[in-house]
Amino acid sequence: MSNQVIPYGRQHITEEDIQVVIDTLKSDYLTQGPKIKEFEDNFASYVGAKYAVAVANGTAALHLCALALDVNKGDKVITTPITFAASANCVRYCGGEVIFGDIDPKTYLLNIDSVRTLLKESPKGTYKGIIPVDFAGRAVNLEEYRKLANEYDLWIIEDACHAPGGFFVDSHGEKQFCGNGNHADLAIFSFHPVKHIASGEGGMITTNDETLYKKLLTLRTHGIVKDNDLYENTVAFAGGDESYPLWYMEMQTLGYNYRITDFQAALGNSQLKRADEGIAIRRMIADRYQAAFADLPYIKGQSGSIEGHAYHLYILEVEDRLGLYNFLRTKNIFAQIHYIPCHLMPYYREFGWKEGDRLQAEQYYKHCISLPMYPTLTEAEQEYVIEEIKGYYK
Ligand SMILES: *Cc1c(COP(=O)(O)O)cnc(C)c1O
Repeated sequence: MSNQVIPYGRQHITEEDIQVVIDTLKSDYLTQGPKIKEFEDNFASYVGAKYAVAVANGTAALHLCALALDVNKGDKVITTPITFAASANCVRYCGGEVIFGDIDPKTYLLNIDSVRTLLKESPKGTYKGIIPVDFAGRAVNLEEYRKLANEYDLWIIEDACHAPGGFFVDSHGEKQFCGNGNHADLAIFSFHPVKHIASGEGGMITTNDETLYKKLLTLRTHGIVKDNDLYENTVAFAGGDESYPLWYMEMQTLGYNYRITDFQAALGNSQLKRADEGIAIRRMIADRYQAAFADLPYIKGQSGSIEGHAYHLYILEVEDRLGLYNFLRTKNIFAQIHYIPCHLMPYYREFGWKEGDRLQAEQYYKHCISLPMYPTLTEAEQEYVIEEIKGYYK
């Protein structure tokens, strides 16, 4: 077993997945074919949202959301420091300013109290939006965030990259699935191979807002509009007589090419069918880790069996993290660290962020480690991981 690397996460590609990609490659479409709409429709119904827009990757999804919400130079947006940098970078792509809140040391999620404090400190209108992250697969309580956002006229982009299929339970006892659009204006997902659903590269935006949905469709393809009812130039200019000629289209805003390909969508679609099965296995793995590490003095912050947790990651906070990490590598167990606090990345330090600014996030970073967590991790492999960790501290 120890000759084979056990990573912290990995994709699971079945024969059926391979077959649908081959079928699509043999079809008339490589890009912009029927598989994209099919994937969008299936994904929207999976998370319970009205609309879904498939895009090239999760970062493109975030960028399009920031564009659709008109993030502009100087606009202030709040997000968490414990996330992949893309959650924050989308604000910078549009010239906005990223303000990091701090995390809750129990859930590792953006602490709503830290957000409230930031909002109270400045005149209303200073901030434009919040980007909470369903970090590690644990759903943010967006019902609470929506209340706060309404108070301050803010939009919400839910970064749900870690949590397709995850949910929180709202104050009425209802399950609110990540990306269902009931509280956030927009939600985004990634189909990078370490995420729940893999399409190579790929991403999705979900929303219940029709206006935003239409904007996203245009922005995804260069800002081009192809709709007789929406053209701004005249029929005569377009070269038609009574109506616009069939070839006609207009670029009305500055968009991008952020499209996904048809064969990636076919793969995503096929993977989506197994999404619930994957989460069930992830929860089982989490429960086994939880049972194995319960009450060990060198490990804290265990998080087994939390309702609605989608377990993209299984995180421990440990003593001597560096020693454990290096030891596990010698055993071919490639744990990972999620994340280096974003506000202390050299790029964000340029804006004045410094050590001590977000204490809970910085403290968390000193001890966190993500253990192998993916549906094809066997019980024997997990047992090996557990034994090696316990062995290290003996
Ligand atoms: C993966 C990820 C992204 C970016 O997705 P890509 O598809 O890699 O561009 C954004 N936010 C979070 C939290 C992620 O984990």
